[in-house]
Amino acid sequence: MTPLLDIDCLSAGYGAVQALSDVSLQVMSGEIVTLIGANGAGKSSLLMSICGDPKPRAGRIRLTGEDITGAPTHAIMRRGVAQSPEGRRIFPRMTVRENLLMGAEALTREDPAAQLEQVFTLFPRLKERLAQRGGTLSGGEQQMLAIGRALMSKPRLLLLDEPSLGLAPLVAKLIFGAIRRLNAETGLTVLLVEQNAFQALRLAHRGYVLVNGRITMEGSGAALLARPEIREAYLGGH
Ligand code: ATP
Repeated sequence: MTPLLDIDCLSAGYGAVQALSDVSLQVMSGEIVTLIGANGAGKSSLLMSICGDPKPRAGRIRLTGEDITGAPTHAIMRRGVAQSPEGRRIFPRMTVRENLLMGAEALTREDPAAQLEQVFTLFPRLKERLAQRGGTLSGGEQQMLAIGRALMSKPRLLLLDEPSLGLAPLVAKLIFGAIRRLNAETGLTVLLVEQNAFQALRLAHRGYVLVNGRITMEGSGAALLARPEIREAYLGGH
């Protein structure tokens, strides 16, 4: 079967910094795949490179077999990739509704009402806060908004960068639960980057470990969770 996302020997970086070296990774349609790794390992760079910036220096990125290597970000978004970036980056002065509608821009000609309903089913809290400015939401609500905004473009592939960052454990659990439901109920394919390796590996069908820009391990979420070297390096206490 052709993977939804097929990354083959990707290298990318910033000037003299080589952030990713020879990275190969596949995400099948309907999967949740997680990428774990320490600070600075290159996790965000990988998600951003899939979106076209930084541009790959070597290697190939394909979406259902179609080569998108080096394509501009807007063209990649139009092919069904949406990202909820690290740090949420919502528009603090815009209302929740306006933030969500910004995410629907890629939907040409389509009425965003159905997508809004899907977002409200997932995060009823956002419906209650529709007229409120983004900047007045709690951290967890802002994360819901960032994910909701990404969903508004009806993506085939959702890229999530550190959705639990800075959230209290209970709120993080709620966000992970929403990602699980979204995947189970709509079949949406998710590539998730997380510092919280325990929760992320429990949620994911498969995972990859990134160390200094290189993939060092891959396997099912359960298999990675059971590896002593993973427990030692990333799961302190679990
Ligand atoms: P974190 O969890 O801290 O976000 P990460 O695994 O997502 O870490 P990246 O942010 O992708 O890692 O960083 C990978 C490497 O690229 C690091 O050495 C980082 O310093 C470098 N880097 C990231 N962004 C830039 C940039 N805009 N310019 C130069 N170097 C960068």
